[in-house]
Amino acid sequence: MLDINKIRADFPILKREVNGRPLIYFDNAATSQKPIQVIEKIVEYYTHYNANIHRGVHSLSQEATDHFEGAREKVRAFFNIPQCKQVIFTSGNTHSINAVASGAHVFVNKGDEVIVSAVEHHSNIVPWQMLCERVGATLKVIPVLDNGTLDMDSYHQLLNPKTAFVVVNHISNALGVTNPIKEIIAAAHRHGAMTLIDGAQSCAHMKVDVQAIDADFYTISGHKMCGPTGIGVLYGKEEALNSLPPYQGGGEMIDQVSFEKTTYAGLPHKFEAGTPNIAGGIALGAAVDYLNEIGMENIAAYENELLIYATEQIKTIPGAKIYGDVTDKAAVISFNVASLHPYDIGTIIDKLGVAVRTGHHCAQPVMDRFEIPGTVRASFAFYNTKEEIDVMVQALQRAVNMLS
Ligand SMILES: *Cc1c(COP(=O)(O)O)cnc(C)c1O
Repeated sequence: MLDINKIRADFPILKREVNGRPLIYFDNAATSQKPIQVIEKIVEYYTHYNANIHRGVHSLSQEATDHFEGAREKVRAFFNIPQCKQVIFTSGNTHSINAVASGAHVFVNKGDEVIVSAVEHHSNIVPWQMLCERVGATLKVIPVLDNGTLDMDSYHQLLNPKTAFVVVNHISNALGVTNPIKEIIAAAHRHGAMTLIDGAQSCAHMKVDVQAIDADFYTISGHKMCGPTGIGVLYGKEEALNSLPPYQGGGEMIDQVSFEKTTYAGLPHKFEAGTPNIAGGIALGAAVDYLNEIGMENIAAYENELLIYATEQIKTIPGAKIYGDVTDKAAVISFNVASLHPYDIGTIIDKLGVAVRTGHHCAQPVMDRFEIPGTVRASFAFYNTKEEIDVMVQALQRAVNMLS
């Protein structure tokens, strides 16, 4: 279905070697590689129409603005966001979450409760802890079951009239498990609570439709979906974004400024203080074009094939244990082998050219839940192959032989 050779040729980095071996890049959950179309877009911007946007009457500024706003429209369509003004460009997923959490005192009062899940990335825990401290609210946690899925019975019991906000990820970066977010959001709404979904993983691996999901806020990481680092997106329902106070003050986000009173600009500018990452936004538009050309459904289907194959292969290693081994998940495999330290495994297979992540993956609470210091995490993208998985499994076998 996918022309893998053609796709791989688009990613210059896949031609390089690491430690004398062809690079096998299985750390896509940390950041994706970039196709030449995205890299060239950054060069094109700085070479041909670098100027500040929304400000100048001069032609160059208008050209830059057109490209930047064109990218906003691409992002809008990609996630089925109703209007361009609901696409807020941020510096990344973490910034998007913080932009909401720091203004969320308008939704969360003293004595209220904020629900997070036990499988969140630190960037979807800490900003909410800070909010709770600031307003005198309480953080509640949806527990995770032994198979890595959320304990939905506990979630439904946690909901009550004091619940003001529910925040969960769409797909966990630590385990790869897809959460039942439609059910989570619908239940939150029945209790009058707002919702934020961390889409940093889902944006790269599946077709996301923010309207079908009905989330109040949805956050996106550009660099996880073939875009550059330093660019992300915050989506919000129009009413929610209008209620949310701005996170940063400065240029671009104002309507009128005087020392007596400043009024804010409308959406999306209210949340885009200062000069944004213009090149990053434009290049994210190129990433969206690239993913559209391949098709998110095709990407999801192919990555699922890789997931099933790799899961089978890893299970042939004696002592291997996969965390979050369920069917409804993205191509992320978090595992350990017997009592070997994940770091030692990662170091040895890196010598063999295989890049995986080891450690707690910025999700320490879920590691504590399974009483492990961390895992080895192999996370795949649509430019990976079964042959690469075979090399990884051989490398793992070698590492296990050396370490045990
Ligand atoms: C990567 C990731 C984040 C953090 O995103 P940044 O791009 O580093 O800001 C948050 N949540 C999840 C689920 C992630 O995968």
